[in-house]
Amino acid sequence: MVIKYADFIGSYAKETQCPRDNKPEYAFIGRSNVGKSSLVNMLCGRKDMARTSRTPGKTQLLNYFMINGEWYLVDLPGYGYAKISKKKRKEWERMIRDYLTHRATLQSAFVLVDSNIPPQQIDIDFMNQLGEMQIPFAIVYTKSDRLKPQELESNLQAIRAAILEHWEELPPEFISSANTGLGREEILAYIEQVNAH
Ligand code: GDP
Repeated sequence: MVIKYADFIGSYAKETQCPRDNKPEYAFIGRSNVGKSSLVNMLCGRKDMARTSRTPGKTQLLNYFMINGEWYLVDLPGYGYAKISKKKRKEWERMIRDYLTHRATLQSAFVLVDSNIPPQQIDIDFMNQLGEMQIPFAIVYTKSDRLKPQELESNLQAIRAAILEHWEELPPEFISSANTGLGREEILAYIEQVNAH
């Protein structure tokens, strides 16, 4: 898919405020600092699309980008920021659950997982919650350029094994790097294919 247009549409505090034009959408989410803003910028082909250094845990909004006038890329607030208050965490949980369970146009979530570190329970927990809510998801392994191929493969094996403790099959997965653009074509092709159905 060629990205002809990528436009910021708006930020919303609740699912009920989100666009109502029934375009298909794809939600990107992951642990804070996983590389989500960098990935969104890389996919959109714009350096400043999602601010790369927003204060983690502060902006709890659903950020909408319209791509080619055809579909929405939704940048969801990340999870797992240690310094967040209990109240804010509860608010985050409610907002995300509400969004995920009510958003009929959501085609798939993309769960971003840092390929540089061992499996994180919080990521596995989030995938399990998606499963309970019956939300289809794919995994995007981020920052893959930081590791040698063998180290990368051994991390990915450990993460896949952790997922397979709860799931019978692995979800679709994409190995990405915001620095090199790795994974961009594949992720966009996947979205194009889902949109076509
Ligand atoms: P967010 O909090 O999930 O939005 O994460 P950011 O996009 O702000 O990235 C967090 C940090 O990881 C920043 O220092 C980025 O420069 C770095 N980073 C993000 N993506 C990549 C990547 O693909 N490769 C490398 N080497 N660093 C990355």
